[in-house]
Amino acid sequence: MRIDVLTIFPEMFSAMNASIIARAKDAGLVDIKVNDIREYSASKHRNTDDYPFGGGAGMLMTAQPIADAIKAVTAEPYTGLRILMSPRGVSLTQELANTLKNQPALMILCGHYEGVDERIVEKYIDLEISIGDYVLTGGEIPAMVLIDCVTRLLDGVLGDEESHQEESFSDDYLLEYPQYTRPRKFEGMAVPEVLLSGHHAEIEAWRRQQRLLITAKRRPDLLAKANLSKRERDWLKEQGF
Ligand code: SAH
Repeated sequence: MRIDVLTIFPEMFSAMNASIIARAKDAGLVDIKVNDIREYSASKHRNTDDYPFGGGAGMLMTAQPIADAIKAVTAEPYTGLRILMSPRGVSLTQELANTLKNQPALMILCGHYEGVDERIVEKYIDLEISIGDYVLTGGEIPAMVLIDCVTRLLDGVLGDEESHQEESFSDDYLLEYPQYTRPRKFEGMAVPEVLLSGHHAEIEAWRRQQRLLITAKRRPDLLAKANLSKRERDWLKEQGF
């Protein structure tokens, strides 16, 4: 997948040069290009922001450099999706990431200061995405969250041992079960006996129960969407949920 980022702080994306994302880039599974909006500014001092009409605090990113950057990186025919990171956008969920991974390309615009001139959104943006109900200083970290979340879903990015089956927010909306690794005893705490039993069916049953309990305790909203059998729903009732 091809991902074009548009930002006035390209250096922030060095975080994409480590770990699994770096490995995916090296393997050619994802091609992430970080474009500096400032280079497209037509003003003498390469400005990219100005005061908002109508007053109000802070600066706004001006339309011209962004429009020119978008035109340059999404040269026709562009078949990808043009995204703006924005607290006003639709929430990033695993479900949304699962649809985005099928796009041939993504363009991700990072706002900064108070955001971007609305005319950019009107003419050049297909989808605004928020990473949560809070406000950050810029769209760079949200863009990296989105890139990380989508990239790990691309074929071949995660090895078998890092598989994304059965993890939180996968198809069945249940949170993940607790996990343990060596040693068997740590600061007086033992690993649940069943996990050492080697009994595959019992381990699976225990994990499923743990997922139900944790989801019921922490995210009853997810449980309502989850695909549970009548027996499982009855069992949860017995546990007091
Ligand atoms: N004045 C704006 C906030 C601007 S924050 C408002 O009240 O809505 C500056 C930039 O940071 C935004 O343009 C956006 O690109 C990014 N940003 C901040 N919080 C975000 C969030 N929760 N999700 C996605 N992007 C966010």
